[in-house]
Formats: sequence, C-alpha cells, structure tokens
Amino acid sequence: MNKLGVHALVWEKGWSHDECARAIANTAKVGFDLIEIPALDPASIDADFTRKQLEQAGIGATSSLGLDADTDISSNDREKEKRGQARLEAAVAVARDFGATHVCGILESAFQKYAVPTTAEGVQRSVEVLQRVAEVAARSNITLGLEVVNRYESNVLNTASQAVEMCKRIGAPNVKVHLDVYHMNIEESDIGQAILETGDHLGYFHTGDSHRGYMGSGSIDLAGVFRAVVKSGYAGPITFESFSSRIVGQPLEGILGIWRNLWEDSHDLAAHALMYTKAQLKAAQEAQKQAERSRLL
Ligand code: MN
Repeated sequence: MNKLGVHALVWEKGWSHDECARAIANTAKVGFDLIEIPALDPASIDADFTRKQLEQAGIGATSSLGLDADTDISSNDREKEKRGQARLEAAVAVARDFGATHVCGILESAFQKYAVPTTAEGVQRSVEVLQRVAEVAARSNITLGLEVVNRYESNVLNTASQAVEMCKRIGAPNVKVHLDVYHMNIEESDIGQAILETGDHLGYFHTGDSHRGYMGSGSIDLAGVFRAVVKSGYAGPITFESFSSRIVGQPLEGILGIWRNLWEDSHDLAAHALMYTKAQLKAAQEAQKQAERSRLL
C-alpha cells in the first residue's frame, strides 16, 4: 500500500518549533501517513524536536531539497561539487535523525532556471557525487529520489527516461526516480506511458495539478495518472505538493514562480487532496480488476 503524505509547505513556511509542531499535528489530524519536510537549509531543522513531534503524532516523514547555484554538483566546478556533496550529506544526516525514509527533490543539480544546457561532464560529475551520497544514505536505510522537473527548474533531469538512465549510471539500489505530475504535464509526451516505463526505478511520487492548486481543479488527466501508477505496481510514497503565495516566501516563491494565491485554507486543501487521492487509487484498483470480471462464461 502506498503511504500518503503532504508537503509541509501546505501548512507552514518555515520550521521553527511552533511551525514544526503545527505542521505535524495538522498532517496527522487530516489523516496522512507522512509529512514531507523541506531541508533546503538542513541546519535550520531541529531533528530531535521534529522526531519527538512525529512520534507523538504517530506519523512518518520524508525530506526534500534542491541544490542551489553555489552547491551545484552538475556544474563541473570542483568547489561547488564539494559544497554540494556536503549539503546532500547534511540533508541525509538530519533526515536520518528525525526518522525520514526518503530524501528527494532536485538532488542532481541546482534548483534554478539555467541559461544553457547541461554538459556530459556535468552529468558525469553529478553521477559520481550521488554515488558517494548514496553510500552514506544506505547506511541509514534512506532512499534518494532524483526529482524530474520542468525545464525552468533544472537542465539535467526533465523527463522520466533521463532519470531512469541516471539511476542506471549511479547503479545504487537506494537511488530512485522521483516523478511529479505537475512537471510531467509540462515535459512528457504521455504521462501514463512515462510512469509505466519508469517501472521499478520509481521510488517517490508527487501529486498536484497543472497550476499546483487543488487536485482535480486543473487540466491534468489525474484519473489516467493514477491508473498508470496502480498499473505500474508502484507501492512507495505518494505526496501531495501544492504552493500558494499565502504560505511560500522567498527565495522559493521566486524560483517556483508562485505569484497567484490558489487557496486560502490549508486544512481544506489537504483534506481534499487526501480524499481525492484515495478515491483515485481505489478507482484505479477497481479498473485493474475489469479484465478478470469480464470473462465470458
Ligand atoms: Mn515536486
């Protein structure tokens, strides 16, 4: 069974003790299995406090981040690579300390709009750094998810097939593909086919809609997406990610282009996402049974 989660930015902008306690309590109250805690700045997270809040609420956690220009492991700049590896290892350490199972997001490059394409050397450097980080993560039973994002947020992994190839080159069992339906809607020719072709390499999944607001209120064929997810046999986490100018502040607001307010009420948004995801998964599971229920006697 897929564990269902929600991104902490649905609830809170930062991770002070008050923000952490509220985000975790609200996630549990709505009924999610886990919360995805952003670790863009791993040092800003009090891991012990976070772990205690998670235990108290009885939910699990994952963590996510994107590198920045100064820590870009795909830059082919040795100093940036070193800083990037240190940032990723710090994120893995803090995730381990608060009990996360996954560290995902844009781990393979900076999280930014690039002005030029990536290079073969840059990709190779990224592969080598991620091989080293994967070893560290494996010691804590943490899976790394390489997020495939649209062209305005990275120049390394824009399609699922590129991410599958990257995972093969890294060659570590705990490095998986992290797909996000919002990005797939921009870059893939066929979202369902891309999910199926990712197959066993899929290790983390972000849901949302075309404008990153309420699920089902945008233009993505989410029924088709969930049918592909179920058909693929994917059993890992499915996390709802949505951004509104009401919560997101700089620098994330600028990088993601969150100019519009797509919702006011975090609780209503999250409760709807959980209900919607459960309904889609159930419908897709029932659709899978259609063949066996249609035999001619
Ligand atoms: Mn995402």
